[in-house]
Amino acid sequence: KPAQKADERKHCNVGTIGHVDHGKTTLTSAITKILAKDGFARYVAFDEIDKAPEEKTRGITINAAHVGYNTKFRSYAHTDCPGHADFVRNMISGASQMDAAILVVAANDGPMPQTKEHLLLAKQVGIQYILVFINKADIVDNEVIELVEIEMRELLSDYGYDGNTIPVTYGSALLALNGDESEHGAPSIRKLLDTMDTYIPSIVRDLQSPFLMPIDNAFTVPGRGTVVIGTMKRGIIKKNDNAELVGFGFSMKTTISDIQIFKKSTTQALAGDNIGVLLRNLKLKSVETGMILCAAKSCSLSNHYKAKIYFLSKQEGGRKKPVVSKYSQQMFSGTWNIACRLDLEPTMEMLMPGDHADVYLTLLEGMVMIQGQPFTIRENNVTVATGIVTEVAV
Ligand code: GDP
Ligand code: MG
Repeated sequence: KPAQKADERKHCNVGTIGHVDHGKTTLTSAITKILAKDGFARYVAFDEIDKAPEEKTRGITINAAHVGYNTKFRSYAHTDCPGHADFVRNMISGASQMDAAILVVAANDGPMPQTKEHLLLAKQVGIQYILVFINKADIVDNEVIELVEIEMRELLSDYGYDGNTIPVTYGSALLALNGDESEHGAPSIRKLLDTMDTYIPSIVRDLQSPFLMPIDNAFTVPGRGTVVIGTMKRGIIKKNDNAELVGFGFSMKTTISDIQIFKKSTTQALAGDNIGVLLRNLKLKSVETGMILCAAKSCSLSNHYKAKIYFLSKQEGGRKKPVVSKYSQQMFSGTWNIACRLDLEPTMEMLMPGDHADVYLTLLEGMVMIQGQPFTIRENNVTVATGIVTEVAV
């Protein structure tokens, strides 16, 4: 892989996930220690990570450390949460929006309940890339490591990842942190870092799917038509493509008359690009922020979504009373909002403030929302819940 110049260095969001005490924080610290030796990072000690100050994201409190480091190839922002509850809240609020997760599993324990719960959550919020690190290799025999690897690959497949191809590395974060240069020490961490550099694509963007762009803004160009502005979520958009404008119960056919990047006309744009799109024969008043511009027939409006939701505790400024099915409030996502009803699983009588659950959302009008899309629910302008879309029910 050719070395990139520093200014071409791509950024990547990663995080450590896995069962409590399996070594997530030790690994995070060890990574900075190894890279600090080569001048690519500042060494961040275990205690600094584990005692990260509370942060407020969308009104909720999460304990999370954000550690930055560079490899030869790119820069990483690494999220490590101290407790299981912090991890769940971080994922449900969409706070870290990880490109990839390092799933840490202790060789002496193998997969445990939180290993599975974190993996399920990672899949539900749309994390595409998982790397497994089998930790504590210093206290087990090699056969045990092999068995844990087999178990992990099966588990990954069970949760919808490709268990056969996902990279699995093993070693000892603790040995590495203590400067040990034997096989399970520092070399194992360097191997993990190499795997992160090669396995996670430089820019995680989806060019295969039909194009989709949430609309952030729209204005009229006299004599030409309506221009909609946004960032391409996925796919490739081309001039003269047939497209649809969908949202708020409304769907309208249109054609891509022109595409602009940095105010210059271009024939196509890719996922990740910030663009303006000229739509001829479209009135500005038919466009609303929160609508989606997508390839013709590629998106369906839906009033029904499944989501993971966390209700803020009373201490966090949330509700005092529990939520029951048919709870109706205004839902906010990105730059738009809509009236929404929330229903619990039939087996669940109520949801207490400070708790999380899988819920069903019914929106007043059909919208296009995608997996991993974060939202909040507010009562009288106060955020009482934060959530993330996990499934679309058309
Ligand atoms: P976390 O809860 O997943 O963040 O786990 P920690 O990083 O706090 O580690 C939990 C315990 O396991 C600590 O006592 C660590 O010193 C220990 N530990 C972490 N990595 C290793 C390792 O590679 N080998 C051994 N023997 N112990 C480890
Ligand atoms: Mg920890």
